[in-house]
Amino acid sequence: MSGKADPRPAGEGSTSRTRLDRGRGALGPALELVHTGRAPTRAVLTAELGVTRATAGAVAAELEALGLIRVDARPGAAAGTQGRPSHRLSVAEDGPVALAAQVHSDGYRAALVGLGGRIVATAPGSEVVDADPAKVLGSVVAVGAGLLRETGRRCVGAGLAVPSAVAEPEGLALNPLHLAWPAGAPVREIFAEQVRAAGLDGPAFAANDVNLAALAEHRHGAGRGSRDLLCVATGHRGVGGALVLDGRLHSGSSGLALEVGHLAVNPDGRPCHCGGRGCLDVEADPLALLTAAGRAPGPEMSLLKQADDLIHGQYGEPGVRGATESLIDRLGLGLAGLVNILNPDRIILGGLHRTLLEADPDRLRAVVADRSLWGRSGGVPILACTLDHNSLVGAAELAWQPVLDDPLGALA
Ligand SMILES: [Zn+2]
Repeated sequence: MSGKADPRPAGEGSTSRTRLDRGRGALGPALELVHTGRAPTRAVLTAELGVTRATAGAVAAELEALGLIRVDARPGAAAGTQGRPSHRLSVAEDGPVALAAQVHSDGYRAALVGLGGRIVATAPGSEVVDADPAKVLGSVVAVGAGLLRETGRRCVGAGLAVPSAVAEPEGLALNPLHLAWPAGAPVREIFAEQVRAAGLDGPAFAANDVNLAALAEHRHGAGRGSRDLLCVATGHRGVGGALVLDGRLHSGSSGLALEVGHLAVNPDGRPCHCGGRGCLDVEADPLALLTAAGRAPGPEMSLLKQADDLIHGQYGEPGVRGATESLIDRLGLGLAGLVNILNPDRIILGGLHRTLLEADPDRLRAVVADRSLWGRSGGVPILACTLDHNSLVGAAELAWQPVLDDPLGALA
């Protein structure tokens, strides 16, 4: 955009369009500010974008015309920080949605997710994950297509979260170890085919579930405002990690960064499927907790729920407390190693790791501080993830990204 003032007089009629031409480059940044809750009013939007009030007004009006946001001009709807009230901005309640899908070792789930990371509708699927990825992805897309029919929403695209590293640029699920899928399955292409076959609009994406959880938490949850955000989580089996730097996922040269599950945290520990011993993957997941507490995992519900229920319901039992503390210590060792390497400004924990933090936050923080150089010199904040279904919300973020980058180009 040219920094020069428009020499034309501000005439009638075409004024708003002229202002929008100047502001088109601001549409994406403006939408992202409303999407992430950082611009609740038009006054804040104007200041954040560094444009004139007239341009910010035209930008907000265009986003409203695209059905993406709502501009509430009612007097007294919201007070500005000082002086006169400003128009309130929010995501459109009946706007378009992204189809989000998640597959994990205990089943799958589909959801429709609007701007703002809002889950509009969701439905769980089968508890059995077929060994053929096309069957599973066909089923989860069919559930999502059903939700779209029921709600009548427009679909901007689809995103998939999988419990595997996803190699780029091909979109291959390299190590779906806790699914029966073949290693290296081209999940993004299979997912895209199923989305097209269901007659849905928009592009299709796929990525690792913890990466997507971290992205969602950074934009809408416990990671907001962090610059170097480390996320570690265990949902069902194994342990995953992710790093968000300056608002972008750090996924490495081919999508495989932050595979933290194979940090060794217990030299005498159990053998790991990677060939090592005592890895975080097998020492700090729900199965490890159940085993350490002497509980045989039951088939009737997810391992995460069984492990969560054990800590919530029977923490007073010495065996359960001891198992919980030993997992906290192993997780703390892993986090300390990551803190020494990555120097994050915040750590967020998801799945069972969030429950471990809540069970004894002081113990976990002490282990990390004792074993990490940067933790000792001040303490890295360690917080619980706050979003329900954060991998699904993150999968939707992938599908929303083209709209956030260029709202007019993606939707018009
Ligand atoms: Zn390992």
